[in-house]
Amino acid sequence: MGLNTTSEIDIVRVSSSKIDSIDFENISFGTTFTDHMFVCDFREGNWQRPQIKPYEPFLLDPSAKVFHYGQAIFEGMKAYKDEHDDVWLFRPDQNMDRFNKSAKRMAMPEVPEDIFMSGLHQLIDLEREWVKKGLGNTLYIRPFMIAIGSGVIAAPSTQYRFMIILSPAKSYYSGEVKVIIAEHFSRAANGGIGAAKAAGNYSAQFYPTKLANEKGFQQIIWTDDATHTKLEEAGTMNVFFRINDTLFTAPTSERILDGVTRKSLISIAERDGINVEVRSVLVSELVEAAKDGSLKEVFGAGTAAVVNPIVGFSYQDVYYELPKIENSFALQLKDKLNSIQYKLADDTFGWTV
Ligand code: PMP
Repeated sequence: MGLNTTSEIDIVRVSSSKIDSIDFENISFGTTFTDHMFVCDFREGNWQRPQIKPYEPFLLDPSAKVFHYGQAIFEGMKAYKDEHDDVWLFRPDQNMDRFNKSAKRMAMPEVPEDIFMSGLHQLIDLEREWVKKGLGNTLYIRPFMIAIGSGVIAAPSTQYRFMIILSPAKSYYSGEVKVIIAEHFSRAANGGIGAAKAAGNYSAQFYPTKLANEKGFQQIIWTDDATHTKLEEAGTMNVFFRINDTLFTAPTSERILDGVTRKSLISIAERDGINVEVRSVLVSELVEAAKDGSLKEVFGAGTAAVVNPIVGFSYQDVYYELPKIENSFALQLKDKLNSIQYKLADDTFGWTV
């Protein structure tokens, strides 16, 4: 599929931009979208001509499979503006690869690189004005694919829609995060879809997270489904534990999403001489470390917040508070990753595009 020139995407522009009506200082995450969206349908075994067009709702048949069988996947990534008004993406190839792994697992067609990347680049190019300068300002990018074929038959659709929508975002402060360690519910199971960014993984978390919220905790630290003894992810983020001066995080697996932030933080930490051990951490180790004072930090890692420091955790109805710490690894790593993303420091890894 040779889709290398801009002329191969049909572009219909809005007659007037809504950008001047947006209060960029007071945007809540994921609620405001730019003027245009990218759309490409898959029918009869082929990807159709892609379009960039005004952001607007669309009609689907009530029997469309996405509504009944949840054949839906997505990605989350960001664009950043540097001091010279240049716009940068961070490791978009990683998101594309993960998107196509999710597609495969959900029996959906993979999106060819030229469609994914030229759609992404041209849409962002058109919406440059929506990427605001300044640390913390980003344009959140949401590629997604849904099964649009009709028929309440539990079999994969033959028709799909791949889209990209863009949402301007301010830096993300979640406030103090206290977590509860999962003792009953699971996010994922071996052989399941935990390693895919499948829509259903997120709706399945809503109910246990609501119960945690009612008890005063913002998030859940997910444990392995079989034994609930290994620490796996924090809410919708990968999770790191600092015990003394070593940083631990679980290896990716069928149950854990291969986070771009996680692997980038591991690379930065290793480059800068922080000892990192990629291995499962047991709940019992965490509790012991909290009791003997060797547990220094716990933080979530993901595109939305980069790092999300956790102030304490609850396990078997006992609450363990984390110490306030100077020279936090979480904040050091966040600064270093942000510096690369906003081009404030040399990108020695070659991650920015
Ligand atoms: N785990 C889950 C379940 C997630 O949804 C996300 C967000 N994509 C992450 C981890 C972090 O991944 P990333 O660093 O690529 O945003």
